[in-house]
Amino acid sequence: MKLENDYSLQEHNTFGIEARCKTFFEYDTDEELFDFVRLHKDDSDFNFFVLGGGSNVLFTKDFDGTIIHPATKGKKIIYETTDYIFVEAQAGEIWDEFVDWCIANKAYGLENLSYIPGTVGASAVQNIGAYGAEARQFIHRVKFLHLDSGDIQYMSNEACCFGYRESIFKHLLKGKAIILSVVYKLGKHANINRSYADVEKYLTDNNIANPSPADIRDAIIDIRRKKLPEVTETGSAGSFFKNPVVDAETFNKLKEKFPEIKYFAAGSNFKLAAGWLIDQCGLKGFQHNGAAVHKNQALILINAGNATGNDVLELSQIVQNKVLEKFGVKLEPEAIII
Ligand SMILES: Cc1cc2nc3c(=O)[nH]c(=O)nc-3n(C[C@H](O)[C@H](O)[C@H](O)COP(=O)(O)OP(=O)(O)OC[C@H]3O[C@@H](n4cnc5c(N)ncnc54)[C@H](O)[C@@H]3O)c2cc1C
Repeated sequence: MKLENDYSLQEHNTFGIEARCKTFFEYDTDEELFDFVRLHKDDSDFNFFVLGGGSNVLFTKDFDGTIIHPATKGKKIIYETTDYIFVEAQAGEIWDEFVDWCIANKAYGLENLSYIPGTVGASAVQNIGAYGAEARQFIHRVKFLHLDSGDIQYMSNEACCFGYRESIFKHLLKGKAIILSVVYKLGKHANINRSYADVEKYLTDNNIANPSPADIRDAIIDIRRKKLPEVTETGSAGSFFKNPVVDAETFNKLKEKFPEIKYFAAGSNFKLAAGWLIDQCGLKGFQHNGAAVHKNQALILINAGNATGNDVLELSQIVQNKVLEKFGVKLEPEAIII
């Protein structure tokens, strides 16, 4: 357990941005969290934010309250059927270590979500997704501390209201729930998802005809390492914006004007590739003070050196305005701005 006042968060956000918080509380067991919350939740000035790995947040100012940081560890198989393995991981587990552990324990499904930074707790808040998979396909149940009642509660997959990088924890339960653990329902039999062209290319290049889940994990890690900036070298929050979803009428008008537009079908709507929209505005590599648009991945805003949170925020607004001007489409940040 760690309790510090006036604490720097620079090491706790992948942008590497300096911001301080009034109090920083890191806990290793759920009981430490319960004691802390019991003591402070009725304080008139109790204001908190749960910070996992800080890989999807942008601090634009100091946080005038308590940062609650789960460092709880533990993962175990809790139940098995003929076809499924139910595994539970504590909120503070590192997501990618959990994925690796699942594959080693012959529990399959998460391999396409390999190498996403962050914690298990946040995987349910964010409904993380990549390479044709989303956490919601596998989340069985979320256990959390409800701040209002002080009770431990359980939320089924359906009740989590998962959407594209969305869940109930970002809306109805925002600021009210601290996730303690997540149960994932994984397959005993591999169900290989090689729908992405990059994955297929890796398999062909490496002469892998019948890939195992471990091969898919290797493929994803290799692709991501080549495409995305390593957070240890370049500060970022991954994709800064969501891919905007537009209706068929808007899409058809855009397609007429920009026949090359990159998109994915999203039910009766269309999801536009935000990176392509930004790139078409000529913004790859564009720098604003200490922040820049990544030179290869336009969807990623980076800390180009000593960026402040406001440098990144202003850059994001410049990008939004340019895309709105050219395409009439509003980009929404995926990163959480504090
Ligand atoms: C290089 C890079 C690549 C990325 N690639 C992807 C990708 O492919 N797909 C993808 O979906 N995301 C991606 N991301 C974004 C990020 O990795 C995910 O959003 C991740 O789930 C964030 O985890 P975290 O622990 O860092 O959460 P944080 O950034 O610390 O927090 C995110 C949100 O979750 C809340 N939260 C965290 N833990 C808890 C808890 N225990 N209880 C309640 N609320 C909690 C926070 O309050 C906040 O609202 C990428 C980020 C980077 C830097």
